[in-house]
Amino acid sequence: MGERNKRYFVGIDVGGTHFAIGVVDGEGKLLAKHTMPTGAGRPFGVIVKEMADTAKRLVVRAGLAESRIGSVGIGVPSTIDSKTGHLIFANNLDWRDLDLIGEFRKSWDVPVYVENDADCAALAESMDDAAKGKNTLLITFGTGFGGGLIMNGKIFKGGDNSGFEPGHFVLFHKGIQCTCGNYGCVEAYASVSALVRQTKEKMQACPDSLMWKECGADPEKVNGRTAFDAAKKGDAAAKEVVDAYIVYAALSIANLVTLFRPELIIIGGGLSAEGDYLIKPLYETAKSRIYAGELLGMPPIVPARLGNDAGIIGAALLGTVHI
Ligand SMILES: [Zn+2]
Repeated sequence: MGERNKRYFVGIDVGGTHFAIGVVDGEGKLLAKHTMPTGAGRPFGVIVKEMADTAKRLVVRAGLAESRIGSVGIGVPSTIDSKTGHLIFANNLDWRDLDLIGEFRKSWDVPVYVENDADCAALAESMDDAAKGKNTLLITFGTGFGGGLIMNGKIFKGGDNSGFEPGHFVLFHKGIQCTCGNYGCVEAYASVSALVRQTKEKMQACPDSLMWKECGADPEKVNGRTAFDAAKKGDAAAKEVVDAYIVYAALSIANLVTLFRPELIIIGGGLSAEGDYLIKPLYETAKSRIYAGELLGMPPIVPARLGNDAGIIGAALLGTVHI
């Protein structure tokens, strides 16, 4: 195919607070990117129109005509009916039962694919040389506890195509209520939102903790790094928060390894920047809790390669793979 006929793809990664749009080529190379607030309280149609209009402007900014765009892929933190692209339930956006494809095409009549955002990120990360050909589990620590599983080169979507929701299997009977309405979900313990809550609780109990200094003595400024940063400086209370959090995350990963036996585990989201400080204890704890670990072995855990761009690139690539 000549350069003039080369097709490009648009990927949109919808998050609870921001959405990011990118233009990529067929190999997943990012040519242009734009991020803006989701404005999640606004009517669905208004948000989707803004997405489509912004995407069109970005295509122009990338120096391309709209006709060069093969398809648009949208990754949403939602359960998706992959046959119809219907958005079933996005607990963090409070969206349910919506026709995202139809709504988008009112503003831009182009082939549109919709998938779960973590599935999109998993698809992008699985294209890496180290992951190619391997059954790969991606776990994303963010507002939620997202995950995608690539099995035999395809996104694993379950028998009825409604997807893979590792953030919502139940870790604790009568546990804390999750944003999905259930109680004791993994997401209520092992997401970054949960870590922020755990950090604030410990700060209230320990007024002398270094965590207060890390957040400028303002609990509203606590983020996923607060406890990690104070723990690295030797703060005992912060280390308790980090250790407990890593156990929640490791148990969740261990259960997934026992169920699906991936060959590689990739950690994405902001927390992956903690590197070995997070990944080593996560690996060791998970290894000690998987079924027949001594005999079957624990798959390696590595940080995501594409960082925050994985969601955009994976969404864009939806149009290039048979999903
Ligand atoms: Zn839940």
